[in-house]
Amino acid sequence: MHFGLTDEQEMIVSTVRSFVEKEIYPHEDAVERSGEVPRDLAEEIKRKTIEMGFYACNFPQEVGGAGLGHLDFALVERELGRGSMALTHFFGRPQNILMACEGEQKERYLLPAVRGERMDALAMTEPGAGSDVRGMTCAARRDGGDWVVNGTKHFISGADHADFVIVFIATGEDQTPKGPKKRITAFLVDRGTPGFTIRDGYQSVSHRGYKNMVLDFDDCRLPDAQVLGEVDGGFAVMNEWLYATRITVATMSVGRARRVFDHALHFAAEREQFGQAIAKFQGVSFQIADMITEIDAADWLTLASAWRLDQGLPANREIASAKLYASEMLARVTDAALQVHGGMGLMNDYPIERFWRDARVERIWDGTSEIQRHIISRELFRPLGA
Ligand SMILES: Cc1cc2nc3c(=O)[nH]c(=O)nc-3n(C[C@H](O)[C@H](O)[C@H](O)COP(=O)(O)OP(=O)(O)OC[C@H]3O[C@@H](n4cnc5c(N)ncnc54)[C@H](O)[C@@H]3O)c2cc1C
Repeated sequence: MHFGLTDEQEMIVSTVRSFVEKEIYPHEDAVERSGEVPRDLAEEIKRKTIEMGFYACNFPQEVGGAGLGHLDFALVERELGRGSMALTHFFGRPQNILMACEGEQKERYLLPAVRGERMDALAMTEPGAGSDVRGMTCAARRDGGDWVVNGTKHFISGADHADFVIVFIATGEDQTPKGPKKRITAFLVDRGTPGFTIRDGYQSVSHRGYKNMVLDFDDCRLPDAQVLGEVDGGFAVMNEWLYATRITVATMSVGRARRVFDHALHFAAEREQFGQAIAKFQGVSFQIADMITEIDAADWLTLASAWRLDQGLPANREIASAKLYASEMLARVTDAALQVHGGMGLMNDYPIERFWRDARVERIWDGTSEIQRHIISRELFRPLGA
């Protein structure tokens, strides 16, 4: 067992850390205030990421990516987690489900996404179907060899900047002993396709500027060439390629927690009350001790789950544990950091209230904490037949 980073991994961490500090931090306040990322700034972040060779670093070299393994990519995401998500979105990491592209789909979607020429978004969630993905009602019916789609998706991150969206749509229903079960297909849908509109979604307290959008399908006609993977094979592509995405939430939570922790540590060392630094009070210093202990625990849990993927070991439970623990750790750490800052922690003169707000969504998206607990307990009980 080896707990250190290789020279190459150290280089990855220091390169991405300094990029985030230099190219992301200076713009964060403006994005928080306006709730927008200006187009030219987005393009500049994208261009600099491409020049550094980090754009689509999660993709294999054969298709033009940097070919990072899961552990190395987790190190990248951990550093990006320090910065505003609205801005680090343009340090592009397209959905690796695009590796399921076949034939001319590679030229139209996969390769332009890896080159940073076209941006993607991914849409599963609907107003009536969140945790219960199979409960979706957005449906496609066959008509003269095409698919005709009707329905709505909501909460779709990054769709404001997306050139195309990978959308999961019901394409039929099977009768099973447990009742009807939807068949799902993944489609590649271009912005501008007639009958497909992308509109503003809700205002979220977390990650201002990282917008969630609503997608409407109104008799939208899609040919078979837009199917990603097999017809009715949506769950197969989802399970093959989206399996690892929950690690991203865990690693970003760890990175953000480390940034918040540094603020709390220095504030506690500098702020004086009763004639001494508040760090001298055990009520404060023990909070700091608990924070770093939990951050380190989440970090190791997360990196170990990524390492398991690189080794080809089963990692479903470990990834769920990492997502669950790291996102809940971030909530506790941001709350404790705010407490250490006292009243000023709530004021937007400091970034603490932002980290506290941003932390809230991590326990919800990419599968809520309850769904992660469901995955973990199911893996434990299934071999026992329970
Ligand atoms: C800002 C934001 C961005 C998002 N971006 C995307 C995106 O880009 N693409 C996309 O497809 N989706 C996206 N999502 C959707 C996200 O994945 C869902 O919000 C999430 O899966 C939960 O679904 P829901 O909000 O409908 O809650 P629900 O599923 O309605 O859950 C409500 C509550 O019930 C609990 N619950 C539900 N089922 C169970 C169960 N079986 N056992 C125990 N408890 C249960 C949940 O844990 C939760 O506490 C985004 C969400 C947000 C908030």
